[in-house]
Amino acid sequence: GTADIGVTGLAVMGSNLARNFARHGYTVAVHNRSYGKTEKLVAEHGDDGTFVPSESVEDFVASLSKPRVAVIMVKAGAGTDAVIDQLAEHMEPGDIIVDAGNAHFPDTIRRENALREKGLHFVGSGVSGGEEGALNGPSIMPGGTRESYDRLGPMLEDISAKVDGVPCCTYIGPDGAGHFVKMVHNGIEYADMQLIAEAYDLLRHGLGASAAEIGDIFEEWNAGDLESFLIEISAEVLKHTDPQTGKAFVDIILDRAEQKGTGRWTVQNALDLGVPVTGIAEATFARALSGSVPQREAARGTLPAHAGKWDVTDRDAFIEDVRLALYASKVVAYSQGFDQITAASEENGWGIDRGAMARIWRGGCIIRARFLNRITEAYERTPELPLLLADEFFTDVMDKGVTAWRSIVSQAALNGVPTPVFASSLSYYDGIRAERLPAALIQGQRDFFGAHTYQRVDAEGTFHTLWSADRSEEKQA
Ligand code: NDP
Repeated sequence: GTADIGVTGLAVMGSNLARNFARHGYTVAVHNRSYGKTEKLVAEHGDDGTFVPSESVEDFVASLSKPRVAVIMVKAGAGTDAVIDQLAEHMEPGDIIVDAGNAHFPDTIRRENALREKGLHFVGSGVSGGEEGALNGPSIMPGGTRESYDRLGPMLEDISAKVDGVPCCTYIGPDGAGHFVKMVHNGIEYADMQLIAEAYDLLRHGLGASAAEIGDIFEEWNAGDLESFLIEISAEVLKHTDPQTGKAFVDIILDRAEQKGTGRWTVQNALDLGVPVTGIAEATFARALSGSVPQREAARGTLPAHAGKWDVTDRDAFIEDVRLALYASKVVAYSQGFDQITAASEENGWGIDRGAMARIWRGGCIIRARFLNRITEAYERTPELPLLLADEFFTDVMDKGVTAWRSIVSQAALNGVPTPVFASSLSYYDGIRAERLPAALIQGQRDFFGAHTYQRVDAEGTFHTLWSADRSEEKQA
């Protein structure tokens, strides 16, 4: 075969990815379970470059130059396993199968193991940026072997988004590392979206501002530290008017946030690792709360509020306080996400370069933002940084913002406005910086009811107090 790379699964994501490769001068083998989509791609977009269409998997594999590289872009789950089996049947040792769909990383680890036994390279790759990104430059997070990246990497870097000429694609680490990092990216996205929504709600309640006015405020914010794709599109959504009713578009949308599951995966994994990702968790639960229809109905108008009435005297100062609180909460959410990446990388021996991670998220993906440069710089300054928040740039952000943050969270509480991520991020912040935590009492309780033992601040070893006897202390062996 002569094709440089193949793409199988030609729904919207796959065909855009294939077109992106073709536009970069690669000869692209294309295949889809039902041939219609293949024909359609070639008929409508043949002038993007050179496509080699195949009706059967066998012909598709045969059309690829060796070592072969086939990218799977099908519905995640059973479909992916089916396609992997079909490809593997016709491939030879040294060939590379890339799953660019949204697989859950434990599935990727399993698939990589199975294919390694056959001498095939399996690359689980996160791809972020939706349809638009797939066509014009996504952020790409490929896992798998280093060896496979030598062959595959240059092509992926070529088609990825670029920021300051630097590709938004880098080798992430073995087996599930790529899909893992994509999962945490999506978790962070949940937190970021919820934070922006809370900022909007605070401005609405605090100022009585209209959606469009808040859209203008966000547009201004987008010229500063908070510059990001999510702030930019939030401004656009808020300024949009519903053509049918003439009302603010955001006011005619049902207030129930849906989810496809990557936030949930992130939180489940964080619980397994024991990493506090309160921002992502609260954001995921906030979506669940919004969808708790019978509970909301039972509570609405029933639960007493005894809330104050918001009285903002200095409009500009209030807006700036919300901005600072948003920025501080956002830093916490990212710092937590990077803690999760650190923990998983250690547990799985992935050796993930955290600074590089922030670098490839600067473009192409949904959380792309100016602020990610700061994260890259922090890990460049201190590669072993134990806590992103503790980097000098971010301590300075906290120094400038924490007073406003306390003010906003307390005002929101007094006035009955929910701020799950603003408030929990502040609690996390105060917890992580605390001299001493009440965790000491938890240990006392655990030792009392379950003889779970404790350690002392003034002596080595593990101890238990004989609570139901004379309350003397025993040192454990
Ligand atoms: P879909 O997830 O809707 O999947 C449709 C494609 O999967 C079709 O090509 C279909 O073939 C194929 N397919 C489904 N089941 C099988 C099977 N058993 N055997 C062979 N082929 C099968 O397509 P999308 O383009 O929306 O998404 C593709 C992947 O990309 C998914 O994993 C999705 O999660 C991910 N994605 C990523 C996004 C991102 O931003 N990174 C955004 C959207 C999706 P047929 O035409 O024959 O039915």
